[in-house]
Amino acid sequence: RAKSHGRNSYEFFTPEMVTHSQWRLAIESALRHALEQNELSLYYQPLYNLNRREIVGLEALVRWHHPQWGLLLPDQFIEIAEETGLIDGLGDWVINTACAQLAEWHRMGGKPLRLSVNVSGHQLINGHLLETLQSSLLVHELEPSEVRFGLDITENMLQAGDDVLKTLRRLRAWGANITIDDFGSGYSSLRHLKDLPVDALKIDPVFLKDIPFDTDNYAIAAAIISMGQSLGMNIIAEGVETTEQLAFLELHGCDEVQGYLIGKPMPAEQATRLMRDNGQGYFEHSR
Ligand code: C2E
Ligand code: MG
Ligand code: MG
Repeated sequence: RAKSHGRNSYEFFTPEMVTHSQWRLAIESALRHALEQNELSLYYQPLYNLNRREIVGLEALVRWHHPQWGLLLPDQFIEIAEETGLIDGLGDWVINTACAQLAEWHRMGGKPLRLSVNVSGHQLINGHLLETLQSSLLVHELEPSEVRFGLDITENMLQAGDDVLKTLRRLRAWGANITIDDFGSGYSSLRHLKDLPVDALKIDPVFLKDIPFDTDNYAIAAAIISMGQSLGMNIIAEGVETTEQLAFLELHGCDEVQGYLIGKPMPAEQATRLMRDNGQGYFEHSR
């Protein structure tokens, strides 16, 4: 970036920047080994349906346990993975691991729960997402009809044009449940929303902040719920931390909630215990 400023580019290299770029380089080279070294894992966070009063899904969130640095969160490395192209390998690993987990839960029997993964724009554009999903299910001897797979995308990816929309339509026809993550914070053309191949909207947590006391957020969140549902979409509230927020969401008929109040992201073994009793009674129990 500094290069574009020409002759005086050195002025832009402050000590913080050097440290920062060194940090990025360190992350990048460590990330190259993280997959082979088995340092990544998926945590699972429950999604609770307010109407049915039960857990209906889980979102897989990647975690990196580095031998020296300890636990790293996605915000510390996903962007770097995207910029360096490492996201393709990482994304495939996430899908494979999620399918292996689905297969384990499927073998345990019980009600099928939706398992969602986050996908990067890269994965939608490179065009092999559906093939990765299909071959993963095949490897784990699952029929698409036996499982419910969710894909979290961001609003901005929908800007990428017709190829992305085509990919999403194929994924949806195959049976994937498409959710727009952090809805309301990115590019959103309400005109296009009705034509999008999307099943659900996840309200950006910023709009849940200080609800019901923040009247602007109250109005926005209520409007997203009512608009989304009118368009036939499922509405999910993420980052639900307080009983006040929960009461508001119930009052406005929000479909699903996800957040620390319901359950934090948890390691696979803990999620497996949750699956064993079909996620029923979990929420009341955990409160
Ligand atoms: P996201 O998909 O919007 O996931 C929700 C984030 O909010 C997660 O952070 C989750 O731990 C956190 N969260 C959930 N409930 C609460 C709550 O009640 N309060 C607060 N303060 N936070 C809550 P996490 O796991 O650090 O992930 C951050 C982001 O990284 C994700 O946002 C997603 O965009 C990205 N990400 C995570 N896993 C993957 C992955 O496997 N692939 C890709 N491409 N991106 C991922
Ligand atoms: Mg998500
Ligand atoms: Mg989100």
